[in-house]
Amino acid sequence: MCALDCIVIGVGGIGAAVLERLARRGLRVLGIDPLPPGHGFGSSHGATRLIRRAYFEHPDYVPLVERAYQAWADLEERLGRRLLNTCGLLQVGPDGGEVLRGVRRSAREHGLDVRDLSYDDIRAEFPAVRVPASWSGVFEPGAAYLPVEACVVGLASLAVRQGARIHLGERVCHWEATSEGVRVRTQHNTWPAARLIITAGAWAGHLLGERNVSLRVLRKPLYWFDVADGAYDAANGFPAFLFETAGGIFYGFPRIDPDGLKVAQHSGGKPVDDASNLDRTIDSEDLAEVRRFLVSHLPHAGDRVQRHSVCMYTMTADGHFIVDRHPEHPQVTFAAGLSGHGFKFSPVLAEALVDLSIDGQTELPIGFLSCNRPTLGNSRREAP
Ligand SMILES: Cc1cc2nc3c(=O)[nH]c(=O)nc-3n(C[C@H](O)[C@H](O)[C@H](O)COP(=O)(O)OP(=O)(O)OC[C@H]3O[C@@H](n4cnc5c(N)ncnc54)[C@H](O)[C@@H]3O)c2cc1C
Repeated sequence: MCALDCIVIGVGGIGAAVLERLARRGLRVLGIDPLPPGHGFGSSHGATRLIRRAYFEHPDYVPLVERAYQAWADLEERLGRRLLNTCGLLQVGPDGGEVLRGVRRSAREHGLDVRDLSYDDIRAEFPAVRVPASWSGVFEPGAAYLPVEACVVGLASLAVRQGARIHLGERVCHWEATSEGVRVRTQHNTWPAARLIITAGAWAGHLLGERNVSLRVLRKPLYWFDVADGAYDAANGFPAFLFETAGGIFYGFPRIDPDGLKVAQHSGGKPVDDASNLDRTIDSEDLAEVRRFLVSHLPHAGDRVQRHSVCMYTMTADGHFIVDRHPEHPQVTFAAGLSGHGFKFSPVLAEALVDLSIDGQTELPIGFLSCNRPTLGNSRREAP
């Protein structure tokens, strides 16, 4: 019999939540990661990740977001600190664009609390925002930001408090299915376990095999700009924002601290060949695009970049997550390709992964995230 019920590869945003959930069920679990929870070299670092209900990407995410709000609120109680920082979200763009069409569809289908804004409404309510007269918007008052690093560290520490072990400083280089479950190997250790859950973010493609899951990692720079006045301050009620422009989708957070106004491009991004050697320098082309966005739409922002950072999106072909059991090894479960919008779901994806791994099924509505869906274009599906 295996000493471990489950190994989790990667203790980032999703892995920390998975470990916590497994440990809460009283299982003997081990998380492995070369870096400590909350580190800045994957996709779950910094202080802000947005959580929003009116999901433009697809209405099927809405029930999962609702559950995520509950799970974060529950975690707030258990950690004794605030995680959901309600700031509201202003989304603007052309009426027929992907964002507003999607937001309105999700809001309609799920009866969500959002407010439609005409061009005149936007001008009156958000005087520091500039949009063309042909645009409109939607305001979602319940949108919030999550302090991402604090969430990951909190989840990992709860996991450990409940009995999970976390082995740091080593990278998993190989795993194999065995008659008893799995065997997981790092540079210096080999661990057998009954089950394996892979939550390795930008590194998942290597661990899952290209034939099973095809992922593309993109480099995502973000910037904090100076603002001369308080026009974009959270303290003055300025919300998080997402603009669909002809030049791409841009988003950001109100100024929360002296770092400034955080702005980045959601669309685009240069491919990353090696996630362990990410270029962290400022990309002048990307910066020029973000500056052009600011000049056109948020004119109170200054030109000076006070801080910058680089993160990674791990994309699937259709932009939706993959949360499933491994097509060849049912004792292996994974979440991959979170496509730049997965953090808010961490506790819910953890619930789904643990259900699938331990119980073999889940009642959560995650069928649309299966690895067999045709829109993924996996080579395995095309094989004869
Ligand atoms: C700039 C940016 C903004 C974003 N904004 C939002 C947002 O507003 N809202 C939202 O919901 N989502 C957002 N996202 C997406 C979200 O942050 C990610 O989807 C999510 O954090 C990914 O979590 P993860 O656990 O998959 O990856 P990570 O947190 O990167 O964790 C993966 C872990 O696996 C470990 N690992 C890798 N390989 C191995 C190995 N071989 N052995 C052991 N361990 C390994 C890594 O060290 C890492 O700790 C954003 C992402 C970025 C980059």
